[in-house]
Amino acid sequence: MANAVRRILLKLSGEALMGDQDSGIDPAILKRVASEVLEVQGSGIQVALVIGGGNLFRGAALSAAGMDRVRGDQMGMLATVMNALAMQDMLEQLGGACTVMTSTPMQPIGEVYSAHHARQLLEAGRVVICAGGTGNPFFTTDTAASLRAVELQTDLLLKATKVDGIYTADPKKDPKATRYERLGFDEAIAKQLGVMDLTAMVMCRDNKLPLRVFDMFASGALHAIVRGEPVGTLVEM
Ligand code: UDP
Repeated sequence: MANAVRRILLKLSGEALMGDQDSGIDPAILKRVASEVLEVQGSGIQVALVIGGGNLFRGAALSAAGMDRVRGDQMGMLATVMNALAMQDMLEQLGGACTVMTSTPMQPIGEVYSAHHARQLLEAGRVVICAGGTGNPFFTTDTAASLRAVELQTDLLLKATKVDGIYTADPKKDPKATRYERLGFDEAIAKQLGVMDLTAMVMCRDNKLPLRVFDMFASGALHAIVRGEPVGTLVEM
């Protein structure tokens, strides 16, 4: 699989950008992630990004606090656009070329998402950030990531988390939990291992898109993955 990887989609949660803060964006984290993305891109891999918005707003939490869910989810989707702009800025500061595409029209903040144009931009050496989720409430950015990864014909969907893969149980609660190196989609779905939402997992399975779950903060992990090293957990058919 190693040599076959030409194009990847990396999904980062909004929370990953917070660092040790309670919300918002830690510039040091942003810089670190952007550097790793550019390093991987520099090795000839095309990189698309989907970033969540959980560091700013989540529709479900706003809804629990009394807001209409659709409006809350719209705020969540706007949060993903803010994170995308922060990442675009950092990638450009570091010398990269990046286009933000939004699922709903938001010019001049970003271009309206088009799979064909995104593929052309990736071929031309730009990082493409697909922002604004799917554009629909009641979905998550995991699902947006799986959708965009399939549309963009990526070889791999990478989900960066705070843990270094998928475990048999929550490793924080169960000291006997062990990490899977590889897992079939049907097993991951049946066991509801909770690392990615089911809609996203089913989307990957039905389109035979391999998914790798890994710890973004393990130094050099992204580069190791595209070199074909077995970092984290691979979910495949
Ligand atoms: N969201 C949505 N539709 C989408 C993607 C995201 O409504 O297609 C909203 C939803 O409210 C979600 C918020 O955007 O809670 C932020 O996304 P998510 O929670 O997936 O971010 P992450 O957990 O990855 O930071």
